[in-house]
Amino acid sequence: MVGVVSPVRKTPALRLTAWGDPPSLADADVPEPTGTEVLVRVEAAGLCHSDLHVLDAAPGALPYRPPFTLGHEIAGQVASASDSFAVGDRVAVHGPWGCGTCRRCAVGEDNYCDRRAELSWSGAGLGRDGGMAEYVLVPHARHLAPIGDLDVTQAAPLTDAGLTPYHAVAGLTLGEDAAVVVIGVGGLGHVAIQILRATTRARVFAVDVREDALALADRSGAHRTLLTRTDTAAVLRRESGGADAVLDFVGSDPTLSLGARILRPGGALVIVGSGGGQLTVTKPGPLPQGASVSLPFWGSSRELREVIALARAGHIRVETEQFPLSAAEEAFARLREGRIRGRAVLLPG
Ligand SMILES: [Zn+2]
Ligand SMILES: [Zn+2]
Repeated sequence: MVGVVSPVRKTPALRLTAWGDPPSLADADVPEPTGTEVLVRVEAAGLCHSDLHVLDAAPGALPYRPPFTLGHEIAGQVASASDSFAVGDRVAVHGPWGCGTCRRCAVGEDNYCDRRAELSWSGAGLGRDGGMAEYVLVPHARHLAPIGDLDVTQAAPLTDAGLTPYHAVAGLTLGEDAAVVVIGVGGLGHVAIQILRATTRARVFAVDVREDALALADRSGAHRTLLTRTDTAAVLRRESGGADAVLDFVGSDPTLSLGARILRPGGALVIVGSGGGQLTVTKPGPLPQGASVSLPFWGSSRELREVIALARAGHIRVETEQFPLSAAEEAFARLREGRIRGRAVLLPG
């Protein structure tokens, strides 16, 4: 395969070089695609709370090692032709790269790759060089989804902040009058509310500790918003009649406890956030009878295409704050302080 850029040219990339170090902008080589690889010129790369979990990870805690370029929410233009894409095609990158050969990967479910435990990466920007750079090398064209005329600053966050809640909601069976509680209205939570409104008839309740997050929930279409207080569980139980599903985008001890207390018998507790909280699963125990607990991770390439279609049809709009790549440090600091409204997106171009 012929690269369209010189392999010796240097470009800025936001690299994690050692566990515990802050990420830093470094000069990286423009990668040269070989075999099935496709070079993508990055135009937008979203920042995710899981990037903070990566930065804060103790050595050995994650199944991969630095150095690598951060960034797992990527959109841009194809920069090296492949069988299915031409140079200049506008694409989003399906980020959970698996082994590429197991039965799950064969159908685009790399998020549940059967060899996940053997791999030394979780995906783009997670052990492999990601999209907080001018260029990213994508292992195979099957990880690319066309975005048509969708803005790249929308397409990039949709690959996780859209795809992850879409996959979580797709796993639910919700009747006509179901009540769903969304805990944590950040980058993923506010998109989850829009997906619930666009694809289900559920009554949507949103809970957060921040007033401005509740305003975002309101704009996203939540029927009812509640600030977290000592009586939140009682109020939610009374108003919802018991939640058919709780989508916990935080995953801390207090949010898991809240989720268990407001669930209706037979309800579903869906733990999306990687907050590291613990919930005791015993029978009997804190969860109601018939409850199910799931730990969805990201989503499939088919679901990414469905999310992009929903956005192109006007059903989903990610609220973003945009930063040049050179301001990545500030963007990360604000994310850590909870001062990003919706999703932070870096613009490497
Ligand atoms: Zn993420
Ligand atoms: Zn696989």
